Amino acid sequence: MFKSKKVEGVDDSMYLTLREERRISKENSKIIRKFEKEKNRKNVPEEEYLTQMRDPSNVVEFDNLHTYFFTDVGTVKSVNGVSFDIPQGKIVGVVGESGCGKSVTSLSLMQLVQAPQGQIVSGSIRYQATDGKCYDITKMPKDKMLKIRGKEIAMIFQEPMTSLNPVFRIGEQMDEVVLLHVEGATPESAKARTMEMLNLVGIPMPEKVYASYPHELSGGMRQRVMIAMALSCDPRLIIADEPTTALDVTIQAQILELLRDVKNKINGSIMLITHDLGVIAEMADYVVVMYAGRIIEKGTVREIFHSPKHPYTIGLMKSKPSGDIKDNRLYSIKGQVPNPINMPNHCYFYNRCEKAMKVCSQEYPDLIDFSSTHCAACHLYYGEGLKEQNEGKE
Ligand code: SF4
Repeated sequence: MFKSKKVEGVDDSMYLTLREERRISKENSKIIRKFEKEKNRKNVPEEEYLTQMRDPSNVVEFDNLHTYFFTDVGTVKSVNGVSFDIPQGKIVGVVGESGCGKSVTSLSLMQLVQAPQGQIVSGSIRYQATDGKCYDITKMPKDKMLKIRGKEIAMIFQEPMTSLNPVFRIGEQMDEVVLLHVEGATPESAKARTMEMLNLVGIPMPEKVYASYPHELSGGMRQRVMIAMALSCDPRLIIADEPTTALDVTIQAQILELLRDVKNKINGSIMLITHDLGVIAEMADYVVVMYAGRIIEKGTVREIFHSPKHPYTIGLMKSKPSGDIKDNRLYSIKGQVPNPINMPNHCYFYNRCEKAMKVCSQEYPDLIDFSSTHCAACHLYYGEGLKEQNEGKE
């Protein structure tokens, strides 16, 4: 048996023997084959992926979604039982540190999870389409999804330079979206729509931008082009994945203002993914806080900012720059997220939490409601945890 070399100070359980690696890889191939076979079925009857919205005022409902990555060193549960709604005409902000599952949640909604390793394992994503039907995206065949992706659900990516194709002119790339998704579109009508969208997002001299290559534009202009492209088919839902991270502060403000204007004009909804709490406070109606693949708190923007309940959310709030010159050090949450391949059975925040109690090391906490819109997963607010706290006070 070959054993990997032990590195001093590193947990032995992180190392796998060659035999273990082979076993995991074999098991993964079996699981992946099963999922891929299911996805590649032809002529899937519509009844299999038609469903009903729980609340007809929502555009999207995530319901206990699990998206896993089957890697050679183990299974990474990137999204581990996520449930939240995106109501019509509202902005839902999804926050959390890198690797907490924000982007994988949005990629699951677009059916763009990196296959074959990445697979939606269970749960559903209900989507209220413009044709009046409600689809479960997790069961939808690929060819049907092509009609929704880019047309009804559009995505604005983080870095426009890598999302735009460097060898095609802006006009060609934008026209293609219209030609693909708008029935009966001609090259002339596609160009007219592209020009209209470039005007809508406030691009000066749209004719010149239409004929330009991505590298000829500034970062802010490229992000405007991405927004224009996302809007060109009148989507019901825009997923904005860190849309301002690559931009400087003044351009950030302009892009956020533009996104809000555009959302009002098309009466669409936005799923805004970011780790910037300032952006969330400015833009969102509802906030979902994720940690290590799970939702640990959700509520309206007022509830999350004025009365955060989960110690992680409280820590996030404390780590915002306060503008007070006396506070010369920023607060940071100590410690690290647990190893994603070997998640504990108890609260994932236990090793970093200043309020951790005995019960927190024994079981994962339930989501507790504080209002019809606000809930958090923490032992501080119920059962044994509440009892432990009260005993501590006596
Ligand atoms: Fe902290 Fe316990 Fe709440 Fe987890 S459940 S956040 S460890 S108090």
